[in-house]
Amino acid sequence: MDISAAQLIRNIPDFPKPGILFKDITPLLADPKIFKQCCQAISDLATDADYIAGIEARGFIFAAAVATMSNKGFIPIRKSGKLPGETISTSYDLEYGQATLEIHANLIPAGKKVLIVDDVLATGGTAVAATDLIIAASLIPTSLVFLLEIPALGGRSRIKQAHSGLQIQTILAE
Ligand code: AMP
Repeated sequence: MDISAAQLIRNIPDFPKPGILFKDITPLLADPKIFKQCCQAISDLATDADYIAGIEARGFIFAAAVATMSNKGFIPIRKSGKLPGETISTSYDLEYGQATLEIHANLIPAGKKVLIVDDVLATGGTAVAATDLIIAASLIPTSLVFLLEIPALGGRSRIKQAHSGLQIQTILAE
């Protein structure tokens, strides 16, 4: 990975709530070379997977690009009420609030392997919920890949407690 990639993440204090230091990835997305390098790095980790799942909303940006690059299908893990048809849902706590995520039921054949992608690993609640949904949909999570991690928030250990065998990888160093 190009050393300059991590420098393209902006720290925005007090967004979306006071006390949150928001990691803004939009400068990185606007750099075509670095954006593509990040997607390629995620794609390199996806060789075992049949599908790439993205977590709404910013996980979609990377997961959809990686799916096309690696010739795999894309699975959306969406916020509540957005997916038509039969869904499975789970609620969980966020760094800033509460959320519900959903996945389609009975859409992808049971037993397929899925790599899950999101932009930022913070407290890990979102990633645990997404992994729970993949399993509830009778799919096999192969690994979780993040653009970056906020280690002080302990997400990695929260994921390991919930899903001990799951690989957790980040593309950019802090
Ligand atoms: P968490 O469940 O606490 O690990 O939060 C991860 C999810 O919330 C990801 O989908 C991130 O996009 C978003 N998120 C949480 N904290 C931040 C932050 N400080 N900066 C940017 N995104 C964040």
